[in-house]
Amino acid sequence: MAKKKEDGKIETIEDLPGIGEKTAEKLKEAGYDNLMSIAVAPISEICDAADITETTAGKAVNAARNALSMSFKSGEEVLKQKEEISKITTGSTTFNDLIGGGIETQSIFEAFGEFGSGKTQLGLQLAVNVQLPEEQGGIGGVAVFIDTENTFRPERIKQMADNLGLDPQEVLRKIFVARAYSSDHQMLLVEKVDELIKKEKLPVKLIIVDSLMALFRAEFTGRGTLANRQQKLNRHLHVLQRLADKHNLAVYVTNQVQARPDIFFGNPTDSVGGHILKHASQFRVYLRKGKAGKRIARLVDSPYLPEGEAVFNVTNKGLEDA
Ligand code: ADP
Ligand code: MG
Repeated sequence: MAKKKEDGKIETIEDLPGIGEKTAEKLKEAGYDNLMSIAVAPISEICDAADITETTAGKAVNAARNALSMSFKSGEEVLKQKEEISKITTGSTTFNDLIGGGIETQSIFEAFGEFGSGKTQLGLQLAVNVQLPEEQGGIGGVAVFIDTENTFRPERIKQMADNLGLDPQEVLRKIFVARAYSSDHQMLLVEKVDELIKKEKLPVKLIIVDSLMALFRAEFTGRGTLANRQQKLNRHLHVLQRLADKHNLAVYVTNQVQARPDIFFGNPTDSVGGHILKHASQFRVYLRKGKAGKRIARLVDSPYLPEGEAVFNVTNKGLEDA
């Protein structure tokens, strides 16, 4: 059995009770290479991956959760945390009104829609707007852009910054872009955001994952692997939510879907991301193209906001009221 730290501090999976070197090795091979991944995993998965009893796995998972302080909070603390929520303007007042004032911190916001519906444009605009001072609808923070489809466009950021009277170079310096090449890489990059905040002391207030599902979809094809994919996606979304709560930041993810007007009033995203994504994102907006270059945003499945639509424009300047 690996020697535990004398002060009992839990910082790596080897520090967890009942996890020796061999078990840690097995866990790592199965993709559980940090405390967060263990803390959010179902106990049965840990049993299988490490070949340990349910009791041992349960203890390890609990210890990981405690180490990351994922335990109880008083109602008062919950209220206090809610009071810290900030909102980032989309650039369009009608769009903001639709979603309760802007994209919120401590939440995952999903934009889904067809190719060209404006999902990336909104992501780029938010990366700029998060930098604005509060009076102008921002949070004065920096953005992390995880780019899975090579759609980050610095020239477009410059245009948007110019339009807001911001220094384009400075705005670009405050957006940290990483290309993800596989779903594992994408997950790893998201976990690295914690370090950016803690070690580099960067005031990250927005994480953009554009697109959330593309790599997952490309890698996991065929029915047999769907459960696997959903498990991984579940873990990914938990890590994002955890970052959103811990650092009071906003998460914006995009999800490309085929237009299927026939099933729209059912659920157009049932097949992409499925229920896991649907339940993980607190705000889900369906984007589509309207007449004369206009865009329509429809809020769906919101727990406390009325469903509705907003029309906005994507112009040279960025997102605007129509
Ligand atoms: P997706 O939903 O696939 O991510 P995008 O966000 O990339 O779609 O939207 C692309 C669309 O945004 C373009 O087809 C165009 O209509 C609009 N767009 C992009 N840049 C500009 C610009 N500089 N001026 C006006 N419209 C733009
Ligand atoms: Mg896009």
